[in-house]
Amino acid sequence: MNAPLSPKVAATFAGVFDHPEFDGHEQIVHGFDAASGLRTIIAVHSTRLGPALGGCRMWTYASDADALTDALRLSRGMTYKNALAGLDLGGGKAVILADPRKDKTSALFAAFGNAVDRLGGHYVTAEDVGITAADMEQVATRTAHVRGTRATGLGDPSPYTALGVFVGIRAAFGHRFGTQDLKGRTVCVQGLGHVGMDVARRLHEAGAKLVVADIHAPAVERAVTEFGATACATDEAHAVAADVFAPCALGAGLNDRTIAELGAPVIAGAANNQLAEPRHDAALRARGVLYAPDYAINAGGVISIALASPGGDDRLVRDKVVAIGATLAHIFERADATDTPTQAVADSIAEERLTARRD
Ligand code: NAD
Repeated sequence: MNAPLSPKVAATFAGVFDHPEFDGHEQIVHGFDAASGLRTIIAVHSTRLGPALGGCRMWTYASDADALTDALRLSRGMTYKNALAGLDLGGGKAVILADPRKDKTSALFAAFGNAVDRLGGHYVTAEDVGITAADMEQVATRTAHVRGTRATGLGDPSPYTALGVFVGIRAAFGHRFGTQDLKGRTVCVQGLGHVGMDVARRLHEAGAKLVVADIHAPAVERAVTEFGATACATDEAHAVAADVFAPCALGAGLNDRTIAELGAPVIAGAANNQLAEPRHDAALRARGVLYAPDYAINAGGVISIALASPGGDDRLVRDKVVAIGATLAHIFERADATDTPTQAVADSIAEERLTARRD
């Protein structure tokens, strides 16, 4: 029998099964390759609906424990996102513990491709934070279980995410105001990156008045010039008096302070993990604010990655992305009928789909 671990070591290496983010994950694999320096954790949360699709994130984690926490949390999120989007795919996620600015080598991505391939298709990888399409092409030299490469069709998922967000804004606006006509209505878009700028363009074309905020001044200038937008301070965007607030920058923007100051009765935007804490779902409902659950409204990107095919006809993808509007309408109706916060309703619908598939 080995000597007991010191309390510090025991805390660091606490078992996976009692990890706070462990949620019945089917498989958690640590991959290591000495020659390339690869250190990766691949978490397969669920394959009940199909192979576990989810991006690979490269990040300089402060510790292995942080990387494991991220992999467990993000892979579970993909199960719910894919289920709610009506995709026959499970949820998984990979993290590579490395610095995307200086640690990228073809050997590293080849080794990662081998690690993915060993899972035999239970996990299908794609781009995420810190990983580019070019990196994924290198991964694809070792495994067929990759999406979002030239061979699988379609590139940047952002335009499809933006289409889904635009459709979702109309659905949320329609539920609150009884019409989806955005002409003359004010939408505040926070974050004008790949997704936010395209959402702003679509809103402008639909006749909406725009208020915009971004820490990157040229993006704001472009929206002002091209879409006649009014600029506002980044830390005041949530409080702007508008019909819709569309967070399209970073996550955790909806917290006790910002919820108390909200200037719009509808929140519908692309950012991931908008709620600072799960309880903020109920806080929004208590304040009478209609919240489009982030992982429902921003599923256009994963839909395009999942359903793209080489050859270019994107009709199937577009139809599924546009269906985000109907999914949100269903969530809003059920939330009202049962007096339940919207993200909780979205979770229930995803869980019902998973349970229905249980053999
Ligand atoms: P991006 O990096 O291209 O754009 C983010 C923008 O937000 C940048 O212009 C940045 O300057 C701005 N920004 C950062 N901090 C800000 C602040 N405090 N206030 C205002 N603006 C700020 O990212 P993206 O691809 O457009 O994604 C935007 C959000 O949508 C992210 O949360 C992302 O996780 C989520 N998302 C994106 C996709 C996709 O297909 N790209 C899919 C699903 C979810």
